[in-house]
Formats: sequence, C-alpha cells, structure tokens
Amino acid sequence: RVVVVGSTNLDLVVTAPQLPRPGETVLGEDFRTVPGGKGANQAVAAARAGAACDFVGAVGDDAFGSQLRASLVDSGVDVRRLRTVPGPSGVALIAVDRSAENFIVVAPGANSTLTDLDAEDRAAIASADVLLLQLEVPLSTVVQAADCARAEGTVVVLNAAPAAVLPAELLDLVDVLVVNEHEAATVGGVFSDDPAVLLDALLELVPRVVLTLGARGAAYADRRGLRLDIPAPSITAVDTTAAGDAFTGALAVSWAERGGAISAETVAASLRWACAAGAACAQRPGASTALPERAAIDALHDA
Ligand code: ADP
Repeated sequence: RVVVVGSTNLDLVVTAPQLPRPGETVLGEDFRTVPGGKGANQAVAAARAGAACDFVGAVGDDAFGSQLRASLVDSGVDVRRLRTVPGPSGVALIAVDRSAENFIVVAPGANSTLTDLDAEDRAAIASADVLLLQLEVPLSTVVQAADCARAEGTVVVLNAAPAAVLPAELLDLVDVLVVNEHEAATVGGVFSDDPAVLLDALLELVPRVVLTLGARGAAYADRRGLRLDIPAPSITAVDTTAAGDAFTGALAVSWAERGGAISAETVAASLRWACAAGAACAQRPGASTALPERAAIDALHDA
C-alpha cells in the first residue's frame, strides 16, 4: 500500500511553437485542462502501476475541485482522506513547445490549507508500506507526515519537487530522496554536470538517493556504497511532462510490493521498472493522462 500526502491542481495546458521569453507573447495552438499536481499525479501513477493508493490532500469547493476528485477516483485512487475546503482549487499554468520542453507556474489554492494531519491520515500512513511526499503542500505538513511514517516503520520517499533547500528536520526523516538534476543541485547546494558529484553531496543529507537523468535514465547511490546507473528505454519523447511523476510513483509501488524492504538486489530491478514507467509517460502527450498503466510499463520494461 502507498500513501501520498500532496498537492492536486488543475493543469491549464497550452501548446505553442516556442515558449515565450519574459515579456514576450506567443500565439499558442491547442488548449486543454488536465488534472495534475505532483501529489495527485504520483498517486495516479502508483494506482495505475498497480498499487492500492490513498491520497491525502485538499481541493477547493469550485468546479475544478469536483473535476480533480473525479479524476482520482477514475484512476482507482482512494480519496477518503481528500478534503474539500472553501475557496479555489490549485491550478497550474503549463506551456509546452514542439520539442516537448515546458514551463509551469503553480497557484496552490486549496493545497495551502493542508496544514494538519488528523488521526485517520496518520492511521493511513501507519498501515502503508511507503509514504510518498513532494513539496507542493506546506512544508510543516510534509514533516508531520514523514515523522508519522518514521514512527510507524513506513518507508519515506521524498521527491524534492519543486526544488528547494530542505531543513535537517525533514532530511533526517527521509529514507529515499528522488530528484532530477536541477533539484539535486538545489537540495545538495552543489552545481555540477557530473551525476556522481550530485549524488555525493546528497548522500551527506539522506541515506539513499535516486537521480533521474531524462533520456539517460537514472542513477542511484546509498550510504552502504551501492552505486547503480540504469539506462532508460530508448523511445521517441512526445511530452516529458509528468515523466518524473510516473517514475516516482512506479518506484514507490515497486518498493511497496517488497513490503518496504530495500535491498541491494531489488534496487536495480525497481529502478529499471521506474525508468520504463517514466519512458512510457514521455512517449504520450499530456501529463496525468499520459501516466502509464502497469501493462504499458511491463511492455516497455520487457522490450
Ligand atoms: P523530471 O521530469 O522530473 O525532470 P526526468 O526528465 O529525469 O524527470 O524523467 C524521469 C524519468 O523518466 C527518467 O529517469 C527516465 O527514466 C524517463 N524519461 C524521461 N524522459 C525520457 C526520454 N526522453 N527517453 C526515455 N526515458 C525518459
């Protein structure tokens, strides 16, 4: 079982020939709304990858909130811990260009009201194998959830996105940190193109680090000295939005299926499967709509 404590946003997505520079207006092409937010995306990713998944979060009492709740239910996520609060739901403004590059601005709305966990949230965390966290809800809530998980023996996986410098209070509760290169540089306070340098800096802070490297796959390091480089499946990327969410959700599922036990033998297998999930997502247009089902992950993994 996986529990996600995190954000849910409606993504307002426009495609354009190129992304605007500051102060510039470009004429876009298609527009669509897509349920998103890193928390909800990773919950959907985990559910589609085959895990029982609870989502602890908040939506507003607007039409967007109903749409967000329905989309989680459609993907099989358990929403009993999802609050509806007065005010707007979170939204994300996303532009995607023809080379599948994107920029994103998030207005948190209801997500910023998720300030306290109640007894039932704590019970859900306690009964899970893996707690999956990101940084789009208040940091104090992320710390509370991680603290509860640590006390109950639930593995804490933190995807440090969006990138931020993190307090020791949180880092001390993290079992596995998942970051892309930009997040790694920010969290680790070190700027390098060399994955090994980023991993070394992060191992000073947490016991296990997974570094995602886009088309180059992922790298892993832990304090026991295990180091792995996992190549990504070779695919044609259409839209890499949410590839990191697909990867992180699948990684959490793979670890949860092993009862949260993290061994040297299973890490490589989990990372390969997570890379297949990220690649399967990048092959399709859209964000949460592109998060792959288990069969699609397995097909790319076994190809
Ligand atoms: P983020 O979207 O968070 O920056 P990445 O771009 O590193 O994350 O992508 C996450 C994972 O998705 C990668 O580790 C890789 O496994 C997969 N992935 C992303 N882009 C591609 C690609 N072009 N080809 C193959 N796999 C990809």
